[in-house]
Formats: sequence, C-alpha cells, structure tokens
Amino acid sequence: MPKNTPPDLNIRPRILYQVAKAAWEGTLFERKGEICHLLQQEFTDKATRRFVANQIRIAMGLDPTDSEEVINEYDAEALMGIGSEPVAIANPEVCENCQDSTCEKACPLGAITRDELGRPSIDRTKCAHDGYCISACKFGALADKSQFVPLINLLRQNSHKVYASVAPAFAGQFGSEVTAGKLRSALLKLGFTEMVETALYADLITIKEAFEYDDKVKNEHDFLITSCCCPIWIKLIENKFPDLMGHISPSVSPMIASGRVIKELEPEAKVVFIGPCVAKKSEAQLPELKGAIDFVLTFQELATIFEAAAVNPSVEADEENPVASWGGRVYARTGGVSAAVGTTLDKLIPRRAQLFNPIKADGIPDCTKLLEEIKAGKREFNFIEGMACKGGCVGGPGRLLPPEEGTKHVNNYGNAAPAHSPVENPHIYSTLTKLGHYNGMPTMTGTSKMAAILSRKLDCVPK
Ligand code: SF4
Repeated sequence: MPKNTPPDLNIRPRILYQVAKAAWEGTLFERKGEICHLLQQEFTDKATRRFVANQIRIAMGLDPTDSEEVINEYDAEALMGIGSEPVAIANPEVCENCQDSTCEKACPLGAITRDELGRPSIDRTKCAHDGYCISACKFGALADKSQFVPLINLLRQNSHKVYASVAPAFAGQFGSEVTAGKLRSALLKLGFTEMVETALYADLITIKEAFEYDDKVKNEHDFLITSCCCPIWIKLIENKFPDLMGHISPSVSPMIASGRVIKELEPEAKVVFIGPCVAKKSEAQLPELKGAIDFVLTFQELATIFEAAAVNPSVEADEENPVASWGGRVYARTGGVSAAVGTTLDKLIPRRAQLFNPIKADGIPDCTKLLEEIKAGKREFNFIEGMACKGGCVGGPGRLLPPEEGTKHVNNYGNAAPAHSPVENPHIYSTLTKLGHYNGMPTMTGTSKMAAILSRKLDCVPK
C-alpha cells in the first residue's frame, strides 16, 4: 500500500454484524478466531491484520492488544461488559497513512494528539467519551466498545426481566414507518421483557427541575444550570468551569432515573438504555450512578443486533402504550429541556414561571462560549441548558439519521403525545403511586425519598 493512501478499513459495521450474529447464535467464543481469520484474508500487512483483530476485541467490549489473534481471550471478561474506557483506537499504526487528522480536529476537548508518524493517542484525563472522534474517522480506526456480548447472553439466558429504556431520539431512526409500538414488538422479539420510554422519566425529571428552579432561583442574581441529559455538558463544566459547579441542578439524567425507578419497583430487573449517545456508556459507570443501568446500546448497535437476529422492526406489530408527554419526548432535541421545564412551571408554580428566563446552547464550542459569558457575569438568563451535540441528542454519534431529520421526527413524536406536560400526564401519577406516593406530587428536592431516587452528588463525578 503506498504511503499516504488511507486504507479502506471501514469494516467495523461488518465486524459488529459478525460478532453480534455469532453472539446471537451462541457460537461467538468458538468462532471468534475463525471470524478474525475470515476478515483478515482481505489484508496482507501485519498492522491491518492487527487492526481487524482489535476491532473484534472492541466489538466484544475488550481492550486492543498487540496481537493479530483473538483466540486467547478471557471470555469471562467479555461477558462482564466494558470497563472504564469506552473509546479505543483499533491500531494507531494504520493511522500513519491518514493525513486528515479529522479525529484530532473533531475532539472539542483536545484529548487526541498525533505523533510525528501520525499515530494518534488519547489523553484519558481529557477524554469525555463523547464519541465525536469515532464519527469523524472515516476509516473506522476509533471505536466504542460494544456491550453485545453480555447483553445478548443475558437475553438468551432468560433469567431476569430485562427492560429496554429507549431514548426519545429513536423517532424515525429505524425508518419513518417504525413507531414506538413497532420498536417495542421488535425488542420483545429479541427477548426484552418490556420497552419503556425514557421520556416518561424525563417527565419526572422535568417536575424535579421545576422544583429545583423554584428552590434555587430566588432573585435576579440566581441561576440554575440544568444537569439533565448530557454527561458531556457536566464534564465540560467540571473540567473547565469548576466555579459554576454549585449552580448545577442535582437531578440525574432521564436514563439514570429510568433505571433507578424500575429497580426501585423490581430490584432484580436489568435495564438497558438504548439511545444515540456514546457518552452514556461512561455515565452509566460513574461511581455515583453505577447500578441503575446495566448496559448501554447505541441505535447503530441495536440496528446491527436486529440485522444479526433477522428482526425487522418495520414489519412488526404496532403495539404501543404511550406514556410520556410532549415535554419528555422533546428532550431529544436542543431546547427541549427548557421548553418542558417552562411549560411545567407554568402549570405547577405559575408565579415562578413569569421569571423563568432560559437560554440554550448546543455543540461544545457554543456551550463553552455560553459558560464563559456566564462566568464573566452576563447573567440575564436564569435557566441554562447545554447539549454537547449539535441539535441535541438527535445529533449524537450513535444516531442513524442526520440531526435535522431526527429533529423533525422527534417533534412529530412529541406532538403525538397524549399529554402536553408531565403535570397533565396520568402515567406520572401512576408511577408515583407505584413508588408509594398516593397523595399526588411528593417533594422532589432536598432529602425526600423521591429526591434521593432522582438525585446525584455532583462532587462524586471523577475527573
Ligand atoms: Fe449524549 Fe450528545 Fe445527547 Fe449529550 S447531547 S447526552 S453527548 S447524545
């Protein structure tokens, strides 16, 4: 291969498919060496053969090594799921042929550098696991570790109830005809016990954020930074604007809320979050939040599992039990959190709604600019929403659709919701009743039981 000609290495989708298919058939551990050799046949140089072996390791949730083989793996390690570093480089040597540096440019936190030969490395102290480098690299040299192996094993064992908590950004991602009902039927066919809308738990968090705002914003000097949804937004503030940490709401993300509430009701259940976000893989592992979510899949990974299991959501039965409000569903796009909290304040505490003055930013450069302004004292706004991806979660690196299309589908999905705000959503009250709150809205801030389920200690977030 001539120097400076990037190799055609974007075989990751095929590798994911082969690994998922073998895992689904229960033959992965016997066949991983065979799959590796099959795919390596296309390449003769050692560096690329090692690249292929490492892509298989990463698809199995394992770290890359210097070996061209995957035959001597610790299968037990693969069955346990990913460790602490979800983003990996399959083999930096193959990047010597790449002149683009797109990975380096794509990282908003400067975590990727390339040496004089062009080999990239990741500064783990700066990496936020957002996955932008993965999207940017057209050769598939960077990849996020998958959790196929333990998840498919769990589904095949049929030993636990397994809930799929599906992010509202799903709308349109699996085809415009794939409704929540069809997706639910497809997930049940895979072996999930039930699908829940993460948006229902966004509804709960919206109510909590409205109360947090009421508690913390008392005069024109006060402001609340919403902690909803985006772990990269929190990491950005923690790393670059630590002085603002005290203004962050202590609410957990809707993903964590879904896992905690489901497990409060069914402690033995397992919960799998499915969304467009790579960073959720590390959010689920944070010490303060660990235990709520067992596995995280991106939409791209779920599409691969569907393909491997020959399940086609578009032809499945449309059996939906809609539970989330418009407010919970539009969390998937920029401005959704602010809109939902504003609408909810209006219903819940109207006198406070008049003072509600939100601002939103998306994309890390714009989020950084907004935080710099706030730090400099430009505080005409009192509710600050940031989403690391352009367009919000519809722009997440594990998406299947362009963000603009995703936004249209999310808005339609939101408009089809039976209730506009969580306050009007009967499923919120039935969830609260199941949690033991029979007399309407419980206290959601401070030290109440409900606050404990829906809160986090932000100083526990590791750097
Ligand atoms: Fe993840 Fe992007 Fe959504 Fe943040 S905005 S939660 S990084 S998909």
